[in-house]
Amino acid sequence: MTVKVRFAPSPTGKLHVGNIRTALVNWLFAKSQGGIFVLRIDDTDLERSTKENEDAIRADLTWLGMVWEETFKQSEKFARYSAAAEELKAKGLLYPCYETAEELERRKKIALSRGKPPVYDRASLSLTEDERNKLEAEGRKPHWRFKLSGGRAEWNDLVRGQQSIDTASVSDPVLIREDGSFLYTMPSVVDDIDAKITHVIRGEDHVTNSGAQIEIFLALGAQPPEMAHMPLLIGADGQGLSKRLGSLSAEQLRGEGYEPMSILSLLAKIGTSDPVEARESLQQLALEFSFSKMGRAPARFDENELSALNAQIVHGMSFDAVKPRLAKLAYGDKATPEFWDAVKGNLKGVPDAALWLAVVYGGGLTGPELDADDQAFIGEAAKLFPEGDVTATTWKEWVDAVKAKTGRKGKGLFMPLRRVLTDQEHGPEMDKMLLLIGGEKARARLVQAAP
Ligand code: GLU
Repeated sequence: MTVKVRFAPSPTGKLHVGNIRTALVNWLFAKSQGGIFVLRIDDTDLERSTKENEDAIRADLTWLGMVWEETFKQSEKFARYSAAAEELKAKGLLYPCYETAEELERRKKIALSRGKPPVYDRASLSLTEDERNKLEAEGRKPHWRFKLSGGRAEWNDLVRGQQSIDTASVSDPVLIREDGSFLYTMPSVVDDIDAKITHVIRGEDHVTNSGAQIEIFLALGAQPPEMAHMPLLIGADGQGLSKRLGSLSAEQLRGEGYEPMSILSLLAKIGTSDPVEARESLQQLALEFSFSKMGRAPARFDENELSALNAQIVHGMSFDAVKPRLAKLAYGDKATPEFWDAVKGNLKGVPDAALWLAVVYGGGLTGPELDADDQAFIGEAAKLFPEGDVTATTWKEWVDAVKAKTGRKGKGLFMPLRRVLTDQEHGPEMDKMLLLIGGEKARARLVQAAP
């Protein structure tokens, strides 16, 4: 049996961290089994689905490296869903209902006030043909519900273990709306059957759906696939995801300078028994993937952890790998391997290199505000700055000379020099920076600071 999974986002919004994790677990499981990853676009809701979101989802998955072997859109398959609906109707498992939303709401309240579960009472199931005709003559259009068996739907979940849903305790799900449009529940089953999906992997918010969907698989004459329902993501504080994290999109993460592998390393490891550590490739993560490592507790998504992983990954990046990225920043085409080696340890993300590119390759800096003491000190330092080109030892020799002449040491010695030469209070080692900035520019900055 070839493992085949699908990631099924709705193009009603962007790909956010929760979706990325679902896509990732599907991808890792498929690849760990030599299987196939399918991208299915769940666009049955034609009003809220957009081409722009769909394109963005594809672009984001590509950026993250989660390539798919097959892809299709649900909107291409309406005829097939209609045929499946007819099959269910013929079997007496899909029945028309005429209640309005208000009526249903009222009945729900009554049930609750009597201490009963708010389960649909199947009133429409017992309508006679005459009664139905009468309602339709009044202009009522039916929505269609799937008739659950009332027995238990059972499966052995790859994350949650043995599951058993009492289908008598849930309402018969609506599969088709009044306007004839399909809700997600049945098309998903039809697609999983047609695409021969072997494993359905998704968030645990779908557990109840699975009870109904298993019965729809069986009603359509198919064997339900294996299922895995993952615990949801929570924030670092142990609460649900904050507003920011809940809607944090791949696009935003990219804009903020996060590398695919830091996002993927974190999302692959949280909620598992493995430590959270940076990995170099999706293939490596796939080798380490196993459902048996996944716990039942929610997975903690901590942005500080993401930031730390990102810095670690950036610090390990080679100049060749980063070169095309630097080239997109101002002065980035001038960057050398020496530049990258000097600055990378100070970056949280590649875009932070923009600052150091400007310091090294840019023209004049604004220059720091110096008090009178520091200005006099810089004046002395400027006089001691060597003529001609700087070398790897210039910084040390110059600072020793300045120290001997002025008697300053420690922070009082180094900080004004660093501020004048780089406009920053912190940064890469100054011997390397001076070498990169060069003698001419360094002299000009000293003169500008102490005219
Ligand atoms: N489009 C559904 C969702 O995003 C897919 C759920 C599933 O994987 O079956 O929730």
